Amino acid sequence: TVSIMEESSSTSTQKVVAVVGGGLVGALNACFLAKRGFSVEVFEAREDIRKAQIVKGRSINLALSHRGRQALKHVGMEEKIVSQGIPMHARMIHSLGGKQSPIPYGKKGQYILSVDRANLNKELLSEAEKYSNMKLNFDHKLKDWSAETGLMTFDRSDGSKQQIRADLIVGCDGAFSAIRKQFLRCGRFDYSQTYIPHGYMELTMPPVNGEFAMKPNYLHIWPRNTFMMIALPNLDKTFTCTLFMPFEEFEKITTGDEVIEFFQKQFPDSIPLIGVDALKRDYFRLPGQAMVSVKCCPYHIGDKCVLMGDAAHAVVPFYGQGMNAGFEDCIVFDEIMDQFSEDFSVVLPEYSRVRVPDDHAIADLAMYNYIEMRAHVNSKWFLFRKHVDNF
Ligand code: FAD
Repeated sequence: TVSIMEESSSTSTQKVVAVVGGGLVGALNACFLAKRGFSVEVFEAREDIRKAQIVKGRSINLALSHRGRQALKHVGMEEKIVSQGIPMHARMIHSLGGKQSPIPYGKKGQYILSVDRANLNKELLSEAEKYSNMKLNFDHKLKDWSAETGLMTFDRSDGSKQQIRADLIVGCDGAFSAIRKQFLRCGRFDYSQTYIPHGYMELTMPPVNGEFAMKPNYLHIWPRNTFMMIALPNLDKTFTCTLFMPFEEFEKITTGDEVIEFFQKQFPDSIPLIGVDALKRDYFRLPGQAMVSVKCCPYHIGDKCVLMGDAAHAVVPFYGQGMNAGFEDCIVFDEIMDQFSEDFSVVLPEYSRVRVPDDHAIADLAMYNYIEMRAHVNSKWFLFRKHVDNF
């Protein structure tokens, strides 16, 4: 069955903006757009994560930094999210021998925050829902859309289809964006994607006697040249450890004993903290996860559609800026909307013109930090560098 939802909720003057993807960037962007008074509809493929038992998705926690905070501030959410985060004032480098050395992120008092991805997404959805001109549609997976008419077709889990037309489509549907697929059919659209040889795996470090197993206000790093592990603190006093390693190394380890042998050689101080049994078990829970970097240009088609967040620029996670850059996209778009009185035919090209070079720079920096974090962080000159905004 195909049902067509027309823009019934809107008045004749109120433009309908469809945000495809209710992830971190989509949910935040929906707030920005609702604040402007558009009739906003969010279409998210998953069920409502606020009701779901198990939330599937990428990394458990993320580093929120200045860019991201600025965007949250615009929609009045900075304080709330910051109060639910854990400040990390410095990196804590773990040597092979177990020695820990801090490297501050910047000047005294500067820090980045460890925040829970699922919680942040839930908070943003709840905030979006507060606007009366907002409708959240879950279980709506975008299948197809037309750049000419703005008509979108969504698949529902019961097998039905739904169609809706919007004045503006904002593609926030992540690294494998279905919205972006249409861009590939347009002329003069540049696109590249690169999978790096490394995968990632998350492991949990439980509390010890009800307290954090390591110092909480740090981003812990075990740099080992060709691979590395990092750990970010969570509010429940656990750490989420992420092991980054070439896929071929992941695949070499096939038994629990080999896991322990590997950790003994590379991250011996972490073994008692994660626990031998947990390590042997959790290493095999999921295979290493792939990481992709996507660059494209432009970010818009005519006055109809614009890409933001990972849909426009998926980056490797080593700069800790994927979400932060996506959040910043929302501010930049908002400012251009002000500048050009919400005239989409001018706003969209201007957004591409302004934003593409900056997002490409973030992608390049992330790729650079891919090497920096696991290798250069070991070297002395690194100690003299001052970056508050990256991992
Ligand atoms: P997503 O979070 O991918 O959300 C996309 C949404 O669209 C999802 O909800 C999805 O269900 C929905 N969707 C997909 N397809 C469709 C469809 N066809 N129809 C409808 N809906 C659809 N960034 C940081 O800033 N700091 C960090 O510390 C950090 N750490 C990271 C660690 C790892 C291991 C990884 C992999 C990434 C990390 N990132 C970090 C990057 C960050 O996760 C992303 O940049 C961020 O999630 C992008 O948000 P998004 O909303 O654009 O995309």
